Amino acid sequence: RAKASGRGRAEVFDETLRRQLQQRAELEAAIAAGLVNGEMQVAYQPVIDVASDRIIGYEALIRWERPGIGLVPPDEFIPVAEGSRLIGDVDRWMLHAATQQLAQWRAESPAGPGDPDPTIAVNISGRHLADPRVITDVADALAASGLPARLLTLEVTETVLVDDPLAYDHLTELRALGVSIAIDDFGTGYTSIGQLRNMPVDTLKIDRSFVASTEPAHRELVALMIRAAHTFGLTVVAEGVEEPAQLARLKAQDCDQAQGFLLYRPMGAPEAGALLRRTEAAGSV
Ligand code: C2E
Ligand code: MG
Ligand code: MG
Ligand code: MG
Repeated sequence: RAKASGRGRAEVFDETLRRQLQQRAELEAAIAAGLVNGEMQVAYQPVIDVASDRIIGYEALIRWERPGIGLVPPDEFIPVAEGSRLIGDVDRWMLHAATQQLAQWRAESPAGPGDPDPTIAVNISGRHLADPRVITDVADALAASGLPARLLTLEVTETVLVDDPLAYDHLTELRALGVSIAIDDFGTGYTSIGQLRNMPVDTLKIDRSFVASTEPAHRELVALMIRAAHTFGLTVVAEGVEEPAQLARLKAQDCDQAQGFLLYRPMGAPEAGALLRRTEAAGSV
């Protein structure tokens, strides 16, 4: 009896697992098809200089409009892509799309490149960063678009840097290409502020949870992160700024750059291009 019910549970478990694996395989196939069929798009979120309010560039964020289903958020399909080799395809697609777009905006600008010359930030998955191919992928995107390397920033999460010495080496090689490196979502992993000194990175992006926190200890931590980053020569970006009081506090804390719904939401390419033209015309980009 006991044996029979035990086997019954095992069968139910097998069935659940089988279904999950199948759903995952289907999602992977759909992502692969989506890349080929033009279902992916880039949303651009402006990043501003806190002191002057000027737009200094954009972060490129992937958007997937899945036929018959609608918009699938990155948090729902990036982790699946990261579980397979697909993430390389996703990142390569994004690298090409984003560099191409910025190069095109620059070429179309009647006044020539702005001042400051706008930058583009692209998110690179940890799995992709651990693959030596990431270096040729980035070099290829720069060569194909003709975008100057100094205008491209690669965003990587801090967990990657701590866990993987290979990723560390790759960052050094990427920087040698002339691109900048930003640590994304800083504060959510295990990196201590002191470790920043030895990291091959240029920019620190403070995670939204710290920016939003009303706890005095967190506010002090933000101030400390900014001071330490500056000591090590890093630029600091605050993520997820939603309220005027947060922006005012960041300004008082000497934060360099900010991004968030208070300032601008991620937008489509036509809108982002038009915004660039307007700010150029106003002499502010
Ligand atoms: P992330 O790189 O930290 O990007 C910031 C996320 O915060 C974006 O979500 C953005 O839309 C959102 N955000 C910006 N301002 C605010 C705000 O004021 N409030 C709130 N609540 N959210 C804000 P999104 O576009 O859904 O992307 C989520 C994550 O997916 C990204 O986090 C990034 O880790 C990943 N991702 C997005 N695009 C790509 C890509 O092309 N390649 C890879 N590997 N990962 C990507
Ligand atoms: Mg990012
Ligand atoms: Mg982030
Ligand atoms: Mg994130």
